[in-house]
Amino acid sequence: MKKLIVAIKNNIMRSAYCEIFEAAGFKVFQTNNGRDVLHLVEKEKPDIVLADIDTEEISGYDILKSIKNIPVIIFSSTERKDEKEKAIELNAKDFISMDRVTPNEVVSRVRIAMGEQKSYKLSLKEDLLGAKDLLKDFGYFQLSCRHCSTDLVLNLIKDLSVGENYYKASFFCPKCFKK
Ligand SMILES: [Zn+2]
Repeated sequence: MKKLIVAIKNNIMRSAYCEIFEAAGFKVFQTNNGRDVLHLVEKEKPDIVLADIDTEEISGYDILKSIKNIPVIIFSSTERKDEKEKAIELNAKDFISMDRVTPNEVVSRVRIAMGEQKSYKLSLKEDLLGAKDLLKDFGYFQLSCRHCSTDLVLNLIKDLSVGENYYKASFFCPKCFKK
């Protein structure tokens, strides 16, 4: 079970997100205080931290400065460009403006930040209808690799930032890994 720290100042929001993440199968630790986040990180060794930019005592920025080995997502009540730039500069894994997202999207973005993206590799045989047209669309002229003649595969990576059933597509050679 993945461990998550939810550090949100607002009590109602915090309990709402704790419930959402618990329902999504996370073990959740919660606080409104940045100092607690640092203690919890040492004690519980979480997989990821979701923290307000303005947690009590120690801010989200200072949490970012203190935690180096775990992904930290910064949560903000507004989409402020200067806040976002500062957070990204301090190596925030993501910056989420809570007025622009649904709770499901927040869960998705936490999963993406942990590297839990699904992907599929499909071989391009005749059974994959329309594959040749798709290849052409990507600028390829043949089914096989230009370098080693191995059949290309279609690689699909789930993109939860767009929606539950969206995938990013690309082609590559399974032998020499060239695109
Ligand atoms: Zn090749």
